Amino acid sequence: MAENKSASVAKPDSKTGDTILKIEKLNVAYGDVQVLWDVDLEVQRGEILALVGSNGAGKTTLLSTISGLLNPKSGEINFNGKNIAGKQAQEIVGNGVAHVPEGRRLFGALSVRENLQIGAYKRKDKAQIAADLEYVLSLFPRIKERLNSLAGKLSGGEQQMVAIGRGLMARPSLLMIDELSLGLAPVIIENLLEIIQTVNREGTTILIVEQDVQTALEYANRGYVLETGHVILTGTSANLLEDDRVKKAYLGL
Ligand code: ATP
Repeated sequence: MAENKSASVAKPDSKTGDTILKIEKLNVAYGDVQVLWDVDLEVQRGEILALVGSNGAGKTTLLSTISGLLNPKSGEINFNGKNIAGKQAQEIVGNGVAHVPEGRRLFGALSVRENLQIGAYKRKDKAQIAADLEYVLSLFPRIKERLNSLAGKLSGGEQQMVAIGRGLMARPSLLMIDELSLGLAPVIIENLLEIIQTVNREGTTILIVEQDVQTALEYANRGYVLETGHVILTGTSANLLEDDRVKKAYLGL
């Protein structure tokens, strides 16, 4: 199993401090309504980065633009040195970016196994796909027991495990997770975030989007605060948790 794990993810490279994703002056609009304004954001290879902010701040819009589901109005999105802004979602997945969407978006009438296989649909390396499935099941023993169940019959926590597993089946070097905590009990959220930390330690860079600012910053190395489409603050998680503006606006302190 150890072999699967090391083979299924890129090697951690956090010590070099190199940038895996660099976003510059990104502007995104829905028709005439602009939602992101000159957003600059960098993700370092090997880190867990939290993007936090309240409802409607533009977090989902940013992830969807990175993963190619939305086209930016202007700006650059460099991933591993390649400008991916406005590219097709399929191409971006192929480049190593996986997106676990808000609300999981599983196919409820398909089995857990089929949902996981969908994550690897762009890949041709059958033996490695099988090894990666084993890796995902080793991370989530609960879903190993439910492989042949319909995804729609699972609990919310189990569905989130399948959604994360589906993302990992794309063999991403960057895994983006939108609102992991949505509708889940605190103990389940903690369990999932510990698994995310394991995935990160084994080499996958993580970008998490959360409304639960405290939880996100407790697990992340660094964070960005987005407010009405603008980045208003960035720093290490420790610094953000101590910042008066964060305390007042998001932590109820
Ligand atoms: P949430 O956590 O509620 O999803 P968010 O920070 O992810 O919040 P977005 O979902 O990106 O925010 O929404 C940002 C803004 O864009 C909101 O004002 C929202 O109403 C608007 N918006 C989102 N999707 C669309 C859409 N498809 N068409 C028009 N406006 C949209």
